[in-house]
Amino acid sequence: MRLNPTREAILKSIQSSSVPLSARKIHESLDGSVNLSTVYRSLDHLEKNRFVQTISISSVRFYYSQSEHGHFLHCRECGEIIQFQECGVDTLIQSLQTTYNYRIVHHLTFFEGICQTCDQYLNRKKIIQQME
Ligand SMILES: [Zn+2]
Ligand SMILES: [Zn+2]
Repeated sequence: MRLNPTREAILKSIQSSSVPLSARKIHESLDGSVNLSTVYRSLDHLEKNRFVQTISISSVRFYYSQSEHGHFLHCRECGEIIQFQECGVDTLIQSLQTTYNYRIVHHLTFFEGICQTCDQYLNRKKIIQQME
């Protein structure tokens, strides 16, 4: 399927990002050349036609281009999302396929935690509170 130039540009922006992007971030990356509602419509189109995958975190939708796997770390303090490459679920997939007679074609691994920057900040805050 051919994409129009706007959808092409949006897809490129998602593909060239190492982290999942929200519609607002994608809109920003296009430097105002496309309005936000067109960005939303184009993202719908790209998602329906499986050019991109999505993940919703705290009711915000993020778009990414990897097709078979998605592995994410999400910091619950600052909201940063990191996409990681380590899969680590091959054995689980094998066993699920056997147990439930499923052919698994896609998976999403999502961990929520606290990133190093936030962790250090929280620790400093704790120390200061103890001193008071
Ligand atoms: Zn953080
Ligand atoms: Zn994987």
